[in-house]
Amino acid sequence: MAAIIDGKKISQEIKDELKGKVSALREKGIEVTLAVIQVGNDPASSVYVGNKKKACEYIGIRSLAYELSEETTQEELLKLVEELNNREDVNGILVQLPLPAHIQEEYIIKAITPIKDVDGFHPFNVGALSIGQKGFVSCTPAGVIELLKRSGISINGKECVIVGRSNIVGKPMGLLLLRENGTVTICHSKTKDLKEVTKRADILVVALGKPKFITKEFIKEGAVLVDVGIHRGEDNKLCGDVDFDDVIDKVSAITPVPGGVGPMTIAMLMHNCVESVRM
Ligand code: NDP
Repeated sequence: MAAIIDGKKISQEIKDELKGKVSALREKGIEVTLAVIQVGNDPASSVYVGNKKKACEYIGIRSLAYELSEETTQEELLKLVEELNNREDVNGILVQLPLPAHIQEEYIIKAITPIKDVDGFHPFNVGALSIGQKGFVSCTPAGVIELLKRSGISINGKECVIVGRSNIVGKPMGLLLLRENGTVTICHSKTKDLKEVTKRADILVVALGKPKFITKEFIKEGAVLVDVGIHRGEDNKLCGDVDFDDVIDKVSAITPVPGGVGPMTIAMLMHNCVESVRM
């Protein structure tokens, strides 16, 4: 029987631990504060921003919401980021992506001071991760590591394969698994004979953005399968990049969608907000 890795339960544990830390900080007179900027009103972004606000409320983090119009210029956004960089009462800054097409995300990400970059997207933090130094780590891959550790799954010496090499998931995932002494392979759309590579994995992390793409032919008997993908089907149900029903009898443990990696992303964002006080 495959173990179902319960991201909902583990993320709740993390949020409860953070609640304690935030209240201890408050007793010392420190109010953990996150500024969340949303430009435009993309419905998916509004849902994500709403969930982040709710998590902040639960933990006791003060959140400042900046809801800017779709017409906001890059200069105006840069000005706001600069203002928040300079505010001593703001610990973390999050700009909800994607931004409208007329704003270059790269410039905005670079404008956030690395010590308030709770998303871990700034090149400084990405570089720190790659050379094993302290910094903010991208929340989704950090959440995957936490899920594995808290489920008692050892990474040390394991053959780890990642499908997907995006800057926010695949690449930092590779660096984190390497940091935990995994033997890491990262696959992408140009990988030859993907199945042959994924079948080597003791731990397979899938983040390629194609619903139910990974079937049992891609995996080794007894592998641990982490599904980062999120898709809403025509039936309005959520599914991942893995065909859950097809692989379930072959894996030793698996993250479901929903209720696997998804809730961990917000929990790790909250973790980064609390860490930002120390930064
Ligand atoms: P991207 O689209 O940025 O990257 C997808 C990656 O998959 C690329 O590196 C691409 O390769 C690779 N890829 C695509 N098709 C194939 C294929 N047929 N074979 C091998 N590799 C392939 O996606 P993200 O990393 O942003 O997201 C991945 C998934 O994770 C999405 O479903 C997204 O919704 C979900 N997600 C979930 C989060 C959560 O909180 N749970 C957070 C972030 C993302 P190449 O580089 O060559 O194009």
